[in-house]
Amino acid sequence: MRLQDLSAALLELDASHRRRYRATLESPQGVDIVIDGEEYLSFASNDYLGLADHPSLVRALQQGADRWGAGSGASHLLTGHTLAHQQAEEELAGFVGREAALLFGSGYAANLAVLTSLVGRGDAVFADKLNHASLNDGCLLSRADFQRFRHNDLDHLEQLLAASDAPTKLIAVDAVYSMDGDQAPLPALLALAERYDAWLYVDDAHGFGVLGDGRGSVAAHDLSSERLIYMATLGKAAGLAGAFVAGGRPLIDWLVNKARTYIFTTAQPPALAAAVGVSLRLIAEAGERRERLGQLIARCRQRLDGTPYAGQSATPIQPFVVGSDESAVLLADALRRQGYWVPAVRPPTVPENGSRLRISLSARHELSQLDALLDLMLSQAAN
Ligand SMILES: *Cc1c(COP(=O)(O)O)cnc(C)c1O
Repeated sequence: MRLQDLSAALLELDASHRRRYRATLESPQGVDIVIDGEEYLSFASNDYLGLADHPSLVRALQQGADRWGAGSGASHLLTGHTLAHQQAEEELAGFVGREAALLFGSGYAANLAVLTSLVGRGDAVFADKLNHASLNDGCLLSRADFQRFRHNDLDHLEQLLAASDAPTKLIAVDAVYSMDGDQAPLPALLALAERYDAWLYVDDAHGFGVLGDGRGSVAAHDLSSERLIYMATLGKAAGLAGAFVAGGRPLIDWLVNKARTYIFTTAQPPALAAAVGVSLRLIAEAGERRERLGQLIARCRQRLDGTPYAGQSATPIQPFVVGSDESAVLLADALRRQGYWVPAVRPPTVPENGSRLRISLSARHELSQLDALLDLMLSQAAN
């Protein structure tokens, strides 16, 4: 893209309903948000448990800053690694029942780290078609043979594994698919990983805090294996920012030595790490919030079942699939005029003709609020 072509290209995005704009929040994250001076009921965040502005978490950050200052000032290998980071890693490992864990600045960085450290030229990665963009970028950056299998299609995956003679194989999946809310068949995937001597890398960005009593998708299935690598982010249900990878000690030590997105970046502010323990305690104690989420999910499914818009999700991500880009944008605009913030998601984030509104549920929504939203969506979409 040349400098002189940028403006025309942006206009083209506008014309095809694919230009993206940022809404600027004038309130903390939550279900009641303010944008451009207007109040909205939001179904748009990944703050599934409503912890992002929890007073205990805010206080933990404040106390962390008092104790540790603002910035870490260096990368982890050059004095940026504080006792706060160290303790957070130990707490995270314990929480998900693994030997060790490693903190990252973001889930994106964690995905690049694992993929580029474990596979390279001549190796092979096997990735679900609907994996998150950051996993795909990690696969590309690794330079391994990048093979994508049809969504949740174990037979297709097995064919690809059986045909591969790559020395190192790695299967990469989202545990909960971020635009559809459906889940990967983790026990069967682990069985395939065992059979074909592959790593199984699980990105649980949307399951951590929500599934398995908050301990995530792998805990929900009670799986344990040295070849299973777990990644979860701390910016979604955990209410903070960053991410962690958990697994065996040798794996974590290898990442410390090899992962470029770990080595060549400044450590997160220690105050953030200091708040991780509080977030984990809040997650552990959030049984009632998860129950409320369960009720909201059940209501959403019950009301969308049998309509043309329904997905297959048992998680807080509930897709409302309308098809064309234009319908999605028009519906989102109509909802906005009535005080509801529900994002339209269009290609390339979702497949062509798969444009949708992505309803994201939070434990802080009332059932009556969800009902009112669905009433509106069902009547407007039919027009
Ligand atoms: C959000 C997300 C990421 C990226 O995590 P960040 O911490 O936001 O960088 C990775 N994978 C999936 C599936 C996600 O939804």
